Amino acid sequence: MLQGLMQDRPLLISSLIEHAARFHSQAEIVSRTCEGPMHRCTYADIGRRAKRVANALSGLGVATGDRIATLAWNGYRHMELYYGVSGMGAVLHTINPRLFPEQVEYIVRHAEDRFVFFDLSFVPLIEKLAQAATGVRAFVLMTDRAHLPECDIPGLLCYEDLLAAASDEYEWPQFDEHTASSLCYTSGTTGNPKGVLYSHRSSVLHSWAACAADGLGIGAAETLLLVVPMFHVNAWGMPYAGAMSGARLVMPGPALDGRSVYELLRAEKVTLALGVPTVWLMLLQHVEASGLRPKEELCLRRVVIGGSSAPRAMSECFETQFGAFVVHAWGMTEMSPVGTVCNLLPKHQGYTLEQRLTVQEKQGRAIYGVEMKVVDDDGRRLPHDGRTAGHLLVRGPWITSGYYREAGQDLLDADGFFDTGDVATIDADGYMQITDRAKDVIKSGGEWISSITLENAAIAHPAVAEAAVIAAAHDKWQERPLLIIVRKPGQTLTRDEMLQFLQGKVANWWIPDDVAFVHELPHTATGKLHKLRLREMFRDYRLPGG
Ligand code: ADP
Repeated sequence: MLQGLMQDRPLLISSLIEHAARFHSQAEIVSRTCEGPMHRCTYADIGRRAKRVANALSGLGVATGDRIATLAWNGYRHMELYYGVSGMGAVLHTINPRLFPEQVEYIVRHAEDRFVFFDLSFVPLIEKLAQAATGVRAFVLMTDRAHLPECDIPGLLCYEDLLAAASDEYEWPQFDEHTASSLCYTSGTTGNPKGVLYSHRSSVLHSWAACAADGLGIGAAETLLLVVPMFHVNAWGMPYAGAMSGARLVMPGPALDGRSVYELLRAEKVTLALGVPTVWLMLLQHVEASGLRPKEELCLRRVVIGGSSAPRAMSECFETQFGAFVVHAWGMTEMSPVGTVCNLLPKHQGYTLEQRLTVQEKQGRAIYGVEMKVVDDDGRRLPHDGRTAGHLLVRGPWITSGYYREAGQDLLDADGFFDTGDVATIDADGYMQITDRAKDVIKSGGEWISSITLENAAIAHPAVAEAAVIAAAHDKWQERPLLIIVRKPGQTLTRDEMLQFLQGKVANWWIPDDVAFVHELPHTATGKLHKLRLREMFRDYRLPGG
């Protein structure tokens, strides 16, 4: 083989902040802080303070490969840790604070975290954790001295004191791009959480793909609102893509309610917002209840929705009331996370809104770098006809090959594909549509019914706030769908009205056998419907005629 003659520079996370600090030095990072006020700084500031973080950690004896945990909301200090920790060659371990305390403790032990950085909101959680997590050398509260509360955390360190004592002179070390950069545990709805260990190379490649026009289209002209938390798959890679592109970033801190999010969208002139459907639901309810006029008040052009399926009604609402295009995307912790993005093709020009929304219901096309296939139970490839649903498998340089410290696992098939656990169709244009998690599919008389399709059809009813569909046992058909509804406040929707509404919208034999009404639905720590708990709640439920 004839070797190319190009320079071999490692793809390192530190190069992203170096670039931003130099070429987008004045682009802003705006944060709503735990202490209360808004905070404004620039990529240049983040770059300088990340160097202080690296010096401070070196001073504390942190070595390359050490795991440094964070329990923190989206904000500038968290961003400094993203770059300071990974940049020096240590591993940033972002922990989801919404997990049960026992799970947080398990994760800290499993990852063998050396230091834990945390926000003011999590003092009570850390007081408990400090007793149990004996391997942690110190806990660092991400605030200044004036805001240090009275608390029972032995040897507590103060973030601003550490940074003040450290120099901002630091040369980012150059090392192998395959070195681990960050660690994120899946929420573990079944069994213990599992660690996905990203590398510098995978993170930089993923950023490039996310920035691309037919990826998420991130550029210096955008102001991004990161509603997706930095503890959820690195906020979908946006702190990295932001620095790569120079996009202005707005960080909401702990306030994710509809009113606070709307206020940030308005005050900071956000053009692109990213988050899971549950937070958008809160936003849309706030807009409806308060009679706001987002189209006139906001500059929002696009909303990226992923993590769960974006219902058609939600995309339509953003389009008509906000004038914003919903970019439906799919991925998972194991994929850094972006796999597919639903952008339009030239052939869709001239589509009516109705036709376009049908395209936008799909999770989109694979971005370059992600290979996809759908297969049957025996691993045989299924056709890309938009109808045949099968197991969705993926392969690519930002997709995991295994879980951290899980011995004896063989996650990939013979061709190196990872089974996502999702069931999907792929159409002739390459648009993938998730029909279910494999474990949530409703198997009715040997045929599969998609719970997601039914949920999205139900949520289109104006009286429905949220909908879930689970399989209920049935004597004749083995399983039949049970629809569980949360009504909007003040609404009096009945079972029969709901079922009538679904007529003609889904195949007749998919119509649920019954409807149950509840006050709220259980969610996982990442905001998804907690189907496992729902199935437990309805374990003794008997369908009419079942
Ligand atoms: P968790 O830790 O809960 O697994 P992830 O974000 O990794 O968190 O979850 C990934 C899963 O979320 C995917 O495998 C898929 O089932 C679901 N998911 C993500 N995006 C979408 C989407 N746009 N539509 C439907 N399901 C989605």
